[in-house]
Formats: sequence, structure tokens, C-alpha cells
Amino acid sequence: TLSDRLADTFKNLRGKGRLSEADIDATAREIRIALLEADVALPVVKEFTAAIKERARGEEVSQALNPAQQIVKIVNEELVEILGGETRRLRYAKTGPTVIMLAGLQGAGKTTLAAKLALWLKEQGKSPLLVACDLQRPNAVNQLQVNGERVGVPVFAPEPGNGVGNPVAVAQASIEEAKRTLHDVVIVDTAGRLGVDAEMMQQAKDIRAAVNPDEVLFVVDAMIGQDAVNTALAFQEGVGFDGVVLTKLDGDARGGAALSIRSITGKPVMFASAGEKMTDFDLFHPDRMAGRILDMGDMLTLIEQAEKVFDQEQAAKAAEKLAGKGDFTLDDFLQQMQQIRKLGSMSKIMGMLPGMGQFKDALANFDEREIDRIQAIIQSMTPAERDNPKLIDGSRRLRISKGSGTQVSDVNQLVDRFNEAKKMMLQLAKGGGLPGMGPMPG
Ligand code: GDP
Ligand code: MG
Repeated sequence: TLSDRLADTFKNLRGKGRLSEADIDATAREIRIALLEADVALPVVKEFTAAIKERARGEEVSQALNPAQQIVKIVNEELVEILGGETRRLRYAKTGPTVIMLAGLQGAGKTTLAAKLALWLKEQGKSPLLVACDLQRPNAVNQLQVNGERVGVPVFAPEPGNGVGNPVAVAQASIEEAKRTLHDVVIVDTAGRLGVDAEMMQQAKDIRAAVNPDEVLFVVDAMIGQDAVNTALAFQEGVGFDGVVLTKLDGDARGGAALSIRSITGKPVMFASAGEKMTDFDLFHPDRMAGRILDMGDMLTLIEQAEKVFDQEQAAKAAEKLAGKGDFTLDDFLQQMQQIRKLGSMSKIMGMLPGMGQFKDALANFDEREIDRIQAIIQSMTPAERDNPKLIDGSRRLRISKGSGTQVSDVNQLVDRFNEAKKMMLQLAKGGGLPGMGPMPG
């Protein structure tokens, strides 16, 4: 897999400051191969690898991830980005029935998809009507009727024996029928050919012109691989479409077609269809598809975990340093107090922010003069005493209290508070305070 090959490429890289130009080139080669294996079209592969190289150049070597993981992470992020980030939703008509027209080659899965989509819409509370406009293939109308029955959605079709219908007229009539029978979504199934041909394109174009759909969905078989680009371009030019549906994702196609079509036509993939069952249908998820194209879902999970563990380790280290081996001094303590004071003077502003009320109360109770006193006491200590408060015996206490204009009891109280704070931080560092630190995965 790509991750194995990248791991080989980067065998010697751990700990270097920046990815070298040679490493980046080697990486780009591996990514190129992986994408071609996933059936991504060559021009798209070139553009994509160039973008990855560009981004990798600016990147520091991560402390959390090994370089191979780091590159995979970048590749994955870019893939998700190109595949569309968030999924685009269907656009519904403001008035009258929403019209969704399906277009694509014969065998792409339009008729199957029409019924799946109808079921999905029904589950969203819509009342769809299926429309049979493939009057080319002898059995096509019947196939849609069978599928319609499976999902409990009515099918509008030309009357049998009424001669061969005209698909444009059927499509037009179906809108009137939907209005009359109060269906709010009309799904128009159309004819396709095995290859792109002018007559079929014209027919689809005519249907489009007649019913002015809210969405034209280009339905494409994920298995057609490298042909996806030319087919998509032909349909974009011949009919035009707003979104893409990828079918037969239950097969072993890696889904490179999704990346090719998205990159070349700029149209979003909206739905994914993956099986013969009517429920094998879902919104398209760019992150899942990216994982599939790279063929490394496990690797991505591992990367996520590695980063999480690294963050936790960093936090633990920071707390330990603060608390351990006498590192936390009275100077640190004073600094903390001063930070709290800064917050305190902000308490009025914070009180006006939603959700900050609770902090405002806590800060308002903080006695400003108390901090002044703490400051005076600590500043009356020698640096050695601040570093190591254990030095502060009876005579030193007296000296400090005099120097700061406070009572000996104030000095005692301060040392107690400091010891409390230190103990708390030690606890934080020794676990407990940092939940969820499981064992390193993998
Ligand atoms: P159309 O010519 O575009 O209307 O395509 P059909 O809906 O008739 O589908 C062609 C063939 O592909 C049929 O045998 C379907 O059962 C099958 N098919 C459609 N969608 C899927 C899918 O998502 N997965 C699988 N495995 N087969 C599918
Ligand atoms: Mg069909």
C-alpha cells in the first residue's frame, strides 16, 4: 500500500528539520502511483501531486508523526478538500414540485438509483413520483415499475399500447401529474447508451429543456475508471449537470473516478450508491472516499491516535516540569497570581460575555490587596529563598515580614498556600488530572 511504500521512502528521515527536496520528489512519485492505481485520470494526478509537493515543501517535520504518516495526512487532507469538503445538499424548488433528472450511460445504475433516491426522499418526509422516460429499451419502463413497487413509490409512465411514447412529452406530463396528485419531488429516469452518442444527448437535452429540473444528476459507475473523465465531459457539454452520483461502490473500484470527475468538471459528488439493495445509498462522504482512494483507513486512524497521544504527552511533560524537582518556585507562584490579577481587571468585560458569568463571580471575590501583599512578601525574599522556600526558617520569616510590612503569620500563610499549589500541580502531572492517557496504539 501507499503507506508501506512511503514508510520505505522515509526510513531515514525521522528527526530531520524539514522534508528535503529529494524526499518530497520520492513521495510525489509514490503518491502518483497510488492515485493511478486508484484509476484517477492522469492530468488530475499531475495537478494533485504538484499541489502536494508544494505543500510538503513548507512543512516542518512533525514531532508527533513520522514523515510517512505526515505525508499521508497531507495527502488525505488535500483529497478531502478537493472531493468537496462538506457534502452539498439537494436543492428543492421554492414552489411546485422539485424536479430531479438523472442522466448517464446505459448500465450506470440510473433506474436503480431512481428508486433508491425515491426511498431516501420518502424517509425524509417527501412524497416522490418516479417518471419513466427511458422508452428506448423494451424492458426499461417495467424495470422502473418493479423498483418503484419495492420502495412503495408510484411510477408515471406512458400507457401501454399507446404507441411508443415520446420521452419529452412524458416528462412534461409528469410535472402536471405530480401537481395534481400532490407529489413534491419528481424523479425523471432517462435513457442511456453504452457509449456517448449524439441522439441520446439530444434527447436528454430536450427533456431538460422541457422540465427545467432543479437538479440534473450525472450518474456514473465507479468501475468505469479512466473513462470517467471523458464520459463526464461529454455529459457536461451535451446535457449539463449539477451534481454527480457514484454507483457500484460495493465493487472493488477504489473510487478514483470521484476525484477525476470532481477535479475536471468542478461538480460535486452528492450521493454514493453501493449495492443492489434499495437502502444501499447514502450522501457522499468526502473523507470516506479519500480513505478509499488512498486505501488506508487504518493508517488514518493511527495518525489521529498518534497525534492525540503526542498532545497528551506534551501536556503531561509541561505539568511535570512545572511541579517536579523543585522547578515550581515562589517566583512562578507570584507570576501566576499576577496573571490572575490581569484576568480580574477584565472581570467587568468578561461579565458581559455570554457564559462568562461564573468566572466573573470567582474573579470578583479575588482580593486585589491580597495579591499586593503576596507580591510584597515574595519580593522581600532572597532569590535563594524564592527557589527553595524550605530555607525560610524562623529568623528569615521575621526578616521577610518586616521587609514587606506584613505579619509573620502572613508569611506563614503564603508559604502554606504555595505548598498547596505545588502539591496540586504535582497531582496533575502524576496522572489523574489528565484523563484518557491510554497506552500507545499500534
Ligand atoms: P441504467 O441503465 O443506468 O438505468 O442502470 P440500471 O439501474 O439498470 O443498473 C444496471 C445494472 O447495475 C443492474 O443490474 C443493477 O442491478 C446494477 N446496479 C445498479 N446500481 C448498483 C450498485 O450500486 N451496486 C451494484 N453492485 N450493482 C448496481
Ligand atoms: Mg435504466
